[in-house]
Amino acid sequence: MSLVSHLRCVCCDQKYPPRKAGFTCPACGPVEGMFDVCYDMDAVAEQLTLSDLLNAPLSQWRYGPLLPLETRHAGRDWPIGWTPLTESASLASQIGVKRLRIKDEGRNFSGSLKDRGSSVALVRAVDGGAAGVACASHGNAAGSIAACGALAGMPAYVFVPQGTASGRVTQILAYGAKVFLVAGTYDDARALCARACQRFNWYNATVAYNPYIAEGAKTLGMELAEQCFADPPDWVAVPVGEGSSIAATWKGLDQLRQLEIIDWRVRLLGVQAGGVAPIAAAFHKSELTEVSGTTVADSICVRAPLDWRKAVSAVRESEGTFITVTDTQILEAVRQMGSRAGVFAEPAAAAAVAGIAQAVRNGIVDRRSSVLAVCTATGLKDVAGAQAGLGSALRVAADLDAIEPLIVGG
Ligand SMILES: *Cc1c(COP(=O)(O)O)cnc(C)c1O
Ligand SMILES: [Zn+2]
Repeated sequence: MSLVSHLRCVCCDQKYPPRKAGFTCPACGPVEGMFDVCYDMDAVAEQLTLSDLLNAPLSQWRYGPLLPLETRHAGRDWPIGWTPLTESASLASQIGVKRLRIKDEGRNFSGSLKDRGSSVALVRAVDGGAAGVACASHGNAAGSIAACGALAGMPAYVFVPQGTASGRVTQILAYGAKVFLVAGTYDDARALCARACQRFNWYNATVAYNPYIAEGAKTLGMELAEQCFADPPDWVAVPVGEGSSIAATWKGLDQLRQLEIIDWRVRLLGVQAGGVAPIAAAFHKSELTEVSGTTVADSICVRAPLDWRKAVSAVRESEGTFITVTDTQILEAVRQMGSRAGVFAEPAAAAAVAGIAQAVRNGIVDRRSSVLAVCTATGLKDVAGAQAGLGSALRVAADLDAIEPLIVGG
């Protein structure tokens, strides 16, 4: 039995029993009434101690008592989570901090942090006897749902906005999912997906709308807690689109603190692209205003985010802040992460490092700080998206004399 006690609406604070409730608060509706999944923490404390963790598998399933799943669930052998930390002294000195670690979520099953939540969604879809699973996405969540759908043997249907990078679409097709390229924005794709799920009895695995996805996503924070156990960073920087990932990162860290597995806190730095920064604006104004800009960081281009309340309160609780960065800064960070840390990040993922660099310049992050950037996805899915900041290859004859003049000056 899972140890979920109730669902709480983050808008009106009403509590609902988990079995009867849908995905969003009936009083507040599917745009405002996002649920937070709550646990019987006394029961969790009996099943999740430091010594339990010593023997637990090196995947996100090690946090079983804090997941909304039965103990012996269908996904328990899926290889999700436990991604590496990479430290780079070279990148740290370039952006002007004492230490810099990167949590490389590009090393997840389908290449992004979305696998954490998608796997939980698929297990629940299987348990609930759904006819299929669906989601709206910019590509990473869709790729992840498609990959987990393949693991689960469940048909997957994904809705992505037209203009989604072809590498992303190809990856999804390889997993055998049906891809709908929707004429419209991500927000349009999300609305269409919700209606299709109703009509065709698919399980709706869209980030933020489905509250159980964040429960998988929070294992990112739990892993950080363990991997930085005796050596916590001062700041953790997370790129923000819907707001789910940063809120979930905080929730994971916070739940392990409640269980007294760690006794420290970090400050969160939420990073948005300057053109599309509604949550950064809401952090300062406490209300959301829809925006209309765009950014090279497609995975965080969410103009009307659902999880802004969760994101704002997580960052407030952490005594952190939000920052915005330009596309030029983001592309520069792609180059810096690749050339100094050996991590190829997609633009949205590199925004974390760009955000730290900007926060150092603004005096928000002290130069003596130890910081951790979450690299949310690999750059390999959308190679064209990264290209603008990287210069180009050199065309040469197959001749040593032809390359020599090109080497001088690097
Ligand atoms: C989903 C995603 C994010 C942001 O997560 P939100 O929950 O939408 O805030 C950041 N980077 C990448 C690469 C993503 O795929
Ligand atoms: Zn409500």
